[in-house]
Amino acid sequence: MSQIAENLKSVLAEIPHNVQLVAVSKFHPAEHLMQAYQAGARVFGESRVQELCEKKPLLPEDIEWHFIGHLQPNKVKYIAPFISLIHAVDTPKLLKEIDKQGRRVGRRIPCLLQLHVAQEETKFGFSIDELLEFMESGVWREYDGAQIVGIMCMASNTDDENQIDAEFEKAAETFCQIKNEYFQQDDEFCIRSWGMSDDFPIALRHGSTHVRIGTRIFGPREY
Ligand SMILES: *Cc1c(COP(=O)(O)O)cnc(C)c1O
Repeated sequence: MSQIAENLKSVLAEIPHNVQLVAVSKFHPAEHLMQAYQAGARVFGESRVQELCEKKPLLPEDIEWHFIGHLQPNKVKYIAPFISLIHAVDTPKLLKEIDKQGRRVGRRIPCLLQLHVAQEETKFGFSIDELLEFMESGVWREYDGAQIVGIMCMASNTDDENQIDAEFEKAAETFCQIKNEYFQQDDEFCIRSWGMSDDFPIALRHGSTHVRIGTRIFGPREY
């Protein structure tokens, strides 16, 4: 068995069956993705539009591609025809553009709103207040080309487990609040995307439904 296949197997053994693994393959070559595919992975996460568009044609058609990184509005058009889920919608402007491009290609593109819960200033996303304000505005109700199906977040990059724990807890609470206020009748609003290689066991304790794991599967990335 390849190292990647072995890594995948060991990660899957740590994740409950009802949680979706997103194999984060950014910066890794198509052959490595193929090894993960052959070992059963079908959902891959990429964070750069150009890289994704170059790799996609080299790989099987039944892969579900998720966009997990910061997305510039002017690049949405390149992925709108095929992207299965956009994890990190971090501004109203981006959601508006996804709506526009979704309508252009006749799709309603599933999106997660990125919540900023980490201490680092570099992380993108809505603060809790900004998110609640955006939901209250209701503009998203008019979007036929973009569908809000949940919340995504990244915890601080720290060894302090209590802090990570508190951040995921905040995300879980915010998800519940938004679910109750806006999506009680909408079963499709159900995705909680949190947890990466170093913190997914903590994330799972806070109800994540999707974990985005790269390094544990593919090894370190070379930038
Ligand atoms: C790179 C990345 C991941 C995966 O990180 P690992 O630590 O390699 O598991 C998850 N989510 C996002 C948004 C990323 O950019």
